Amino acid sequence: MRPANEGRLVIISGPSGAGKSTVVRELLRTCPLPLQLSVSATTRRPRPGEQDGLDYHFLTHEEFARRRAAGDFLECKEVFGRGDWYGTLAATVTAGLGGGKWVILEIDVQGALAVLERHPDAITIFVHCGSLEELEKRLRLRGTETEESIGRRLEVARCELRDAEHYRYKIVNDTVSDAAARICEILARYATRPQNV
Ligand code: ADP
Ligand code: 5GP
Repeated sequence: MRPANEGRLVIISGPSGAGKSTVVRELLRTCPLPLQLSVSATTRRPRPGEQDGLDYHFLTHEEFARRRAAGDFLECKEVFGRGDWYGTLAATVTAGLGGGKWVILEIDVQGALAVLERHPDAITIFVHCGSLEELEKRLRLRGTETEESIGRRLEVARCELRDAEHYRYKIVNDTVSDAAARICEILARYATRPQNV
């Protein structure tokens, strides 16, 4: 049984380009629950406009490896099989939950399965955008990836769509405001449930 004032863990996954970050931003802006986005660490390079500490903690490979060895990550994975690592910082999650926050992890499917082993009561939500064609379109429109990176992300997406079955809720991100509103509704239902559900 979790302590009465402890927050909840919310895992949001889905293929790269489905619109997770956009929907989560809208969710944080509009949903009245005490949500907090867990900022992951990564070794990938920042995209134009991304800020260290806000979008990710951008680490060198050496620093990431050091923190991994020190046990700082709740989970960490090499997400696209090309040497870039992503990880959830355990201290961020512990502090958030202890402070009564609903901590949102925007992580890949493998990371989600690892977190579920430690936090089986996490609320799991899979965001997708309907089709691989639409996904490719969004990745291209975002304009942040090379052709090679788009190809790799679409390849991973095929597997991730099969893994959607591990998630309790599936949301199609047709419009950002509707997707965020549906997620907020799902979470609001948990706010009225007994603590151990
Ligand atoms: P992810 O975090 O899943 O990788 P992003 O949030 O970066 O995806 O979104 C990928 C691209 O799709 C961005 O250019 C974003 O503006 C666009 N996008 C997000 N949601 C929608 C939507 N509902 N309809 C059309 N485009 C969208
Ligand atoms: P991007 O490079 O587009 O920001 O993210 C690529 C992928 O990495 C996304 O599927 C995202 O969910 C995943 N990701 C981001 N942070 C983490 C993390 O801390 N752990 C894991 N396992 N995956 C992450």
